[in-house]
Amino acid sequence: MISRVDDRLREQIARFSLRYTCEACVHFERDVGACSNGYSTIPHRQTDIRTTTELVFCKAFELA
Ligand code: SF4
Repeated sequence: MISRVDDRLREQIARFSLRYTCEACVHFERDVGACSNGYSTIPHRQTDIRTTTELVFCKAFELA
């Protein structure tokens, strides 16, 4: 799911400490840097929310 990133979303991410990247997902295998479900992690890895205008959120994300 692609979300537009604007200052409002940036403020909400900061205020609620929202997590949305693979690094915060229970399915992320840190030792190999891969998804245990076999999905590509490239679109969902650390994103610089200060500069990006789009956020690709993984529908299989589960907070670790
Ligand atoms: S389920 Fe999605 S968010 Fe979680 S590690 Fe896999 S690709 Fe990343």
